[in-house]
Amino acid sequence: MDNCIFCKIAAGTIPSKKVYEDEDLIVFHDIQPAAPVHLLIVPREHLPTLAECTDKHQALLGKMMLLAPKLAQELGGGYELTADGPAGGFRALVNTGPDGGQEVYHLHLHVMGGPRPWRGQH
Ligand code: AMP
Ligand code: ZN
Repeated sequence: MDNCIFCKIAAGTIPSKKVYEDEDLIVFHDIQPAAPVHLLIVPREHLPTLAECTDKHQALLGKMMLLAPKLAQELGGGYELTADGPAGGFRALVNTGPDGGQEVYHLHLHVMGGPRPWRGQH
């Protein structure tokens, strides 16, 4: 899509603080972080919203979800089960449509980790 900011980031024509990429996905830091670790997991394919995904996107969506804990762990916003019980953690969130608070109409999974990020803006 010509006018899509995340397509431009995926194509490398707009810079980003990239932390991961492969043939299907690109991941970068959110420009306005709402948590100590705030990543956006973005498919290279231009899909406007989660609601427009179909059965053929099942593997892609699964891949996005499974990447979230791995990257959160690597970047210091991870979850672990300790001898004292659960510790750390993150939120994985997909805003969908105007009432869902979506601003960029290219599917993306927010991963927000660090101490109690949900007490922040989101
Ligand atoms: P949403 O409201 O779910 O559509 O979220 C869009 C997110 O994209 C917001 O958290 C923005 O801060 C973020 N964002 C917008 N432009 C950029 C950019 N150029 N680089 C990184 N993050 C961006
Ligand atoms: Zn796009």
